[in-house]
Amino acid sequence: MNLVQRKIRDYVPIVGEDEVMNIIELASRVKGAKITHVNTTKNGGGVAEILKSLVPLTRSLGLRTKWEILDGGENFFSVTKKIHNALQGDHSIAITRKMEKIYLSVNNRSAKSLSLDSDVVVVHDPQPLPLIESKKSGKWIWRCHIDTSDPAPAVWRFLRKFVMKYDALVFSRENYIPRDVRGIKVFVRHPTIDPLSEKNRPMDHGEVLDILERFDIDPNRPIIGQVSRFDPWKNQLGVIDVYKKIRSRMPDLQLLLVGSFAGDDPEGKEWYRKTIAHASGCRDIHVLTNRDGVGDKEVNAFQRSFRVGLQLSIKEGFGLTVAEALWKGTPVVGTRAGGITLQVINGVTGFLVRDLREAADRVEQLLRMGWLARMLGRNGEEHVRRNFLITKDLRNYLRIHIELVKADLGSEI
Ligand code: UDP
Repeated sequence: MNLVQRKIRDYVPIVGEDEVMNIIELASRVKGAKITHVNTTKNGGGVAEILKSLVPLTRSLGLRTKWEILDGGENFFSVTKKIHNALQGDHSIAITRKMEKIYLSVNNRSAKSLSLDSDVVVVHDPQPLPLIESKKSGKWIWRCHIDTSDPAPAVWRFLRKFVMKYDALVFSRENYIPRDVRGIKVFVRHPTIDPLSEKNRPMDHGEVLDILERFDIDPNRPIIGQVSRFDPWKNQLGVIDVYKKIRSRMPDLQLLLVGSFAGDDPEGKEWYRKTIAHASGCRDIHVLTNRDGVGDKEVNAFQRSFRVGLQLSIKEGFGLTVAEALWKGTPVVGTRAGGITLQVINGVTGFLVRDLREAADRVEQLLRMGWLARMLGRNGEEHVRRNFLITKDLRNYLRIHIELVKADLGSEI
């Protein structure tokens, strides 16, 4: 996999010399360690976004880091999306014997084809969870990125058998740790964004203008928007309802819904169709996807063009898109769902809302009070700088690697 080169010293102007020296020192303690990350897609969704930067950065620091993809195919991903939804709180979902069989057989097969011989193996999310059955050596971490605070009990019981075999678990929030996880190392770590990636790098206004014009969006009229996979949890339909409420009072307003189809998410097409149907008849709603040529650069420009960013998810493990918007000085109106509440500090970096009516009122307030939007946007950028940049994730991973492997490997690494 071709990954962009990254050097830790490039981050000095953003996070300071001390932070970078601290990371270099931590990395020197596990230099040469073999680390393997495993997930199910190299494109689409937050995990791929993080690994695209984390993997080259840890390599540049002297760790022998690999990124393996478990490619499961359509049946497998429709089972794992059900597991995902069940873990995020949909209690109506049950796993049948047939589903178990598909899930386990793909994992068994992949355990043989993937290269998992490492000092540390980091398995991301539930899809590759049963790979732990093939563990022969090293320390294994399960990095769960979704909100598992209220999982469907039977599905969790089935998965827990695998979870408990790991050496350590990492969740994005304290309350995501299932109550019956005991006797195992558990870390709570927030996901982060890379300020130097194509999606988050600085961009001048000329570049933003060019991109808006390319997609036929009027740069002279206000724009609000949400960037998310097409997925019921992301609530694109709710975003459209909010837009329609405001639009009756502010007819100039445009809505930009940017979405992608992640390789491991079979629900994407259906939710794209539903979104288009819900938006029908309104030419100021732009629904754009990776298939229209929206890549990282375009997402960067769009997030900069929003007067207000929206994230109206029903459940949200973390929501990197919130940090991405805030980093660009765009205030965010978000629901009180999971990781959004870590990033949107009510009245400071944006507004947290309980329902769509409140969302519409807050968005309208920010549209009418440009000074307030700018103030919250500036606070948001600072909040992300302090808490949600990739250097922090890197430091946390290095600390965990040291804790897990140093004792075992001694002077070998
Ligand atoms: N994303 C993108 N294009 C899109 C939609 C999403 O590049 O059309 C990216 C988004 O910018 C973010 C990631 O996919 O980096 C989504 O991560 P998040 O944590 O917000 O949600 P997830 O998809 O992992 O549930």
